[in-house]
Amino acid sequence: MTDAPLLDPDEALARLLRRARLTGAETVTLVDATGRALVERELLAEVDVPGFANSAMDGYALRAADTPGTLALVGESAAGRGEPPAVRPGTAVRIMTGAPLPAGADAVVPVEEASEADGAVTIPGAAQAGAHVRPAGHDLRAGERVALPPLATPAAIALLASLGRYVVAVRRRPRVAVLSTGDELAAAGTSLAAGQIHDANGPALGAAVILAGGELLALPPLPDEPVATAEALRAAAAAADLVVTSGGVSVGRHDHVRAVLEAHGTLDFWRIAVQPGKPLAVGQLDGTTVIGLPGNPVSALVTFELFVRPFIRAALGLEGDGRTRASVEVDERMTKDPARRAYLRVTVDGEASRLVARPSGGQGSAQVRPLASANALLVVPEGEAAAVPGRRYEAIILDLVMT
Ligand code: AMP
Ligand code: MG
Repeated sequence: MTDAPLLDPDEALARLLRRARLTGAETVTLVDATGRALVERELLAEVDVPGFANSAMDGYALRAADTPGTLALVGESAAGRGEPPAVRPGTAVRIMTGAPLPAGADAVVPVEEASEADGAVTIPGAAQAGAHVRPAGHDLRAGERVALPPLATPAAIALLASLGRYVVAVRRRPRVAVLSTGDELAAAGTSLAAGQIHDANGPALGAAVILAGGELLALPPLPDEPVATAEALRAAAAAADLVVTSGGVSVGRHDHVRAVLEAHGTLDFWRIAVQPGKPLAVGQLDGTTVIGLPGNPVSALVTFELFVRPFIRAALGLEGDGRTRASVEVDERMTKDPARRAYLRVTVDGEASRLVARPSGGQGSAQVRPLASANALLVVPEGEAAAVPGRRYEAIILDLVMT
């Protein structure tokens, strides 16, 4: 078992994603939809937006044919103040931005291009018909189909609100249970006994779940004990759409997560050709997908990026990992395991035309600090023993992305 072959990471992801189930829809108010996955991806405009012709400028509504000339002012059109008087030949109406264009007018002359005195306005230049007028349907026409982006951005919310919508259907956030395993773990904020370390993965993976668009079910750390592990994992599987554990998936004598999957559910695979993160178990318990991440915090967070984030997004109907990629160079050699695809912790900077990645610190999988200061993961393919200057590599940019 120790030397089970290493699974190709793309194959592992494809097999994992086959397990993802789209969550149902829920209806929320527009602001509550912020950043969430939209169920509707296309809208039918039922009305024109705007619903009436209006002015794009503060100025004078008139007939273009009456310019240049001096016109009698017959009233005012202000935004939201109702129907203005009509414009007849030789007259003009003072108008504000967004106010309805009076009947009979076909152009607006900006206030800067006119002079007003004694109840009349003088227009020295010739206006074009249609100038500074926003016709009805200027933004959206009734009957038009409008594409919406995958996520509810502020602009998508503006579009929905403009069309008179108050609520929108979004995907329910998949509920993700997070459990750390390890006898050595003390909860964050508690004091340490001899040989203990603080549980970094519980809070870290919890944060990652929230940013990936999941609903976090944070469960207490588990001891390295097979019966307790089985009971806790099955309870988590019953309560969640996905169970994510950390630790206990390797070949140590006290690693029980894999054994629980084999005994009570199924284990699909558990060794993947990635660095960090080789021991990563995927399977199911009582029909719920379980992803057993490695215990080292860097391995846990990097493999979360590679596998858990895309899984949560797939449940939300979103493709990929939502990350931006850049093509970068390195200016120093960075070694790695040739048998695995490496995701090195780096800082990318420079001009857009020549981005350079430098290690953000030591590359040990228990070294969290360099991950915390990295802004990208440098992808160095299988079969290569190092990243070398002069070649280009893909970098996955670790922006804070909220789904
Ligand atoms: P394991 O995979 O359980 O053998 O753990 C591998 C390494 O990661 C060990 O050094 C553990 O102490 C460490 N580790 C496991 N879980 C956590 C955690 N939740 N927080 C911080 N370190 C952990
Ligand atoms: Mg352990």
